[in-house]
Amino acid sequence: MSTLYDTLGVSKSASAEEIKKAYRKLAREHHPDRNPGDAGAEEKFKEVQHAYDVLSDADKRKQYDRFGAQNGRGGGGAGPQNFNVDFDIGDLGDLFGGIFGGRAQQRAQRRQPMRGDDVEARVHLSFEDSLQGAEAKVPVELTVACRECGGTGAQPGTSPVICPECNGRGVKAESQGLFALSQPCPRCRGNGTVIEQPCKHCKGSGRERRIKTYTVKIKPGVKDGTRIRLKGKGEAGENGGPAGDLVVLVHVAKSDTYERRGDDLVVNTPVTYATAVLGGKVDVPTPEGAVSLKIPAGSEDGKLIRIKGRGAPKIGGGGKGDVLARVRIQVPKRVNKKERELLEQLQQAGI
Ligand SMILES: [Zn+2]
Ligand SMILES: [Zn+2]
Repeated sequence: MSTLYDTLGVSKSASAEEIKKAYRKLAREHHPDRNPGDAGAEEKFKEVQHAYDVLSDADKRKQYDRFGAQNGRGGGGAGPQNFNVDFDIGDLGDLFGGIFGGRAQQRAQRRQPMRGDDVEARVHLSFEDSLQGAEAKVPVELTVACRECGGTGAQPGTSPVICPECNGRGVKAESQGLFALSQPCPRCRGNGTVIEQPCKHCKGSGRERRIKTYTVKIKPGVKDGTRIRLKGKGEAGENGGPAGDLVVLVHVAKSDTYERRGDDLVVNTPVTYATAVLGGKVDVPTPEGAVSLKIPAGSEDGKLIRIKGRGAPKIGGGGKGDVLARVRIQVPKRVNKKERELLEQLQQAGI
């Protein structure tokens, strides 16, 4: 069975200072506020709390060292001293759990700040716009405060009234055995006020769905599938919590001309057989206009020729990628008499 010392991760001979340090570290780590909804963390937090209660008190610690491990109850040594009632450790655990559970419940029901949800929206861009950057109008449906009642949930002209059940305190004391527990008021659910005439527009919720349009700046060079996160533009938070984010997913249409490869743009470039063999010049389109490109003699079909700095803008600065002209040797479907004669000569020469 693990001891209270194990719980705090200290040796049996640890000083009071060491115990305090270990406790502070573990309590911070497992604090329920930092681990919302994690039952394991809450359990651990209680264990740490309990171990510290015993080991930080010189008398209790002495008692525990003498009897605690012997009776096989682990942390049971503290029970009798704490409550002056003959609990065994099981009861003690439940008791702690009860107090703790009550508090946790209260925290959840009393209006705890909660972050709003993230919202996703899509933007469709042409390939050209993706290279130049764009300002996109993004309509987003959000839950906002009702404009009729201003978010109170009460019909305009009336206001929420003090809860008669708890007199506005939001909590009700309830006696449970040895302890008086404070529970959230069931009538007002901890708000302290109740609405007698709910707003007709929002049916008392104080909220409504509305379309908000954001203008989103999209940087030149944005790639298909990019997500842009706009902090705080999502759903509003609750009880003073921060708003969620708006996540804009950017779709870029395919280009008839270019094939994007990182920040480079590949463009198919028709080249005649003669030019491929002998070398020559061809015009290659780039986003900023055509460029005259030298085709080296002996270029094979599929060869990529780099045109520096004419590709897509690099996101985050640092210039542009390149255009890669891909040589596509053209095979004529029809030839005239003269051409036929020349080709036959080539054929006979074995070229
Ligand atoms: Zn109430
Ligand atoms: Zn309303």
